[in-house]
Amino acid sequence: MSKTTKENSIVTRPPVIVIMGHVDHGKSTLLDYIRNTNIVDTEAGGITQHIRAYEIIHKDDKGEDRKITFIDTPGHAAFSKMRKRGANIADIAILIVSAEDGVKPQTIEAWKTIEEAKIPTIVAINKIDKPGANVEKTKMELSEHGVYLENYGGNIPFVEISAKNGKNVDELLSMINIVADLEDFKGEKNKEATGFIIEANLDQKRGIEAIMIIKNGTLKKGMWVLANDSHCPIRILEDYKGKTISEATFSLPVKLVGFDKMPKVGGEFIAFEKKNDMLTFEEEVFEEEKNIKEVDLNTHKKIIPIVLKADTSGSIEAIEKEIEKLETENTIFRIIQQGEGNIGEKDIKNAIGAEHAIVLGFNVKADNNANTLAER
Ligand code: GDP
Repeated sequence: MSKTTKENSIVTRPPVIVIMGHVDHGKSTLLDYIRNTNIVDTEAGGITQHIRAYEIIHKDDKGEDRKITFIDTPGHAAFSKMRKRGANIADIAILIVSAEDGVKPQTIEAWKTIEEAKIPTIVAINKIDKPGANVEKTKMELSEHGVYLENYGGNIPFVEISAKNGKNVDELLSMINIVADLEDFKGEKNKEATGFIIEANLDQKRGIEAIMIIKNGTLKKGMWVLANDSHCPIRILEDYKGKTISEATFSLPVKLVGFDKMPKVGGEFIAFEKKNDMLTFEEEVFEEEKNIKEVDLNTHKKIIPIVLKADTSGSIEAIEKEIEKLETENTIFRIIQQGEGNIGEKDIKNAIGAEHAIVLGFNVKADNNANTLAER
């Protein structure tokens, strides 16, 4: 679905920032402080609503307004999984460390995730207002764990802050702009949007809604969004303040309402001008996935295809891992399709498409149509 790229339509886009670190080191306090001091709340109550992403405007040294997007990650696991697929939700990571507690296990874990994702990092040494804060000790501990700061044997920029009283938070925002300038993140407006799902939930009144972060292109009313195998027409589109909008472009977090299925958090989405384009694209991708050779070329073993349905994404992951381990003298198993929810007609059709396929359900039911089709 990639279209010819016109050189002149490629522009610099705002960076998407993620804050990671040990629990209680101040991630939420920092996110709240930046939001409260940088977003003018025009809609009453709008800003207090629960949304895990927002955009701010910060003036750079030249006095120019610069946009920065902050997202609350859907957890380290989802974040690192994305890297394996060659894409990142965030462009810059902030590793937050409390100067009172120093480096802790989740600091190291977060650092590993960031390193694997290969995204530029800024270290925020937090809680410097506390009497027990020891900035020098924290820096030493960081270098002991391979986080080499500028002037401390490395080139990772850092800012000493207090997320509570806001000291140096402005400097941190300026640092983000400096790093963004160096990296020069690009986007193309005249393209159908692509990006990531960062949250999804079922609203009793409105249906399935998702918070998405646009990484490229533009989303417009009338388009369609495909996220794995969930579809959504762009009818109810809102910005992070809950205000209805008809269009949005890169780095903006948006809420889209009306998915036919719960989209996977951390998964990618693609927008299409027309519903039919989306369905054709989906069909093509699906055909590719289905055409797994019957015999594994490496082991020469027969492949048994499996369609897996389970109650949660957690169980899917766990079962997938187990299935990967299964192997007999002359067969191996391969999941050709998986998803959350009951077994439906479409799942059976998918299984019919592959030879000797098995449909597996874990903590889910098969609906009537699926049963009838399977029996046939
Ligand atoms: P998170 O688990 O990383 O999101 O940490 P929180 O933002 O919830 O912060 C944990 C606790 O530390 C809260 O009680 C905050 O008020 C406090 N805290 C966070 N940042 C600072 C800071 O810069 N100075 C002080 N004194 N307290 C802070």
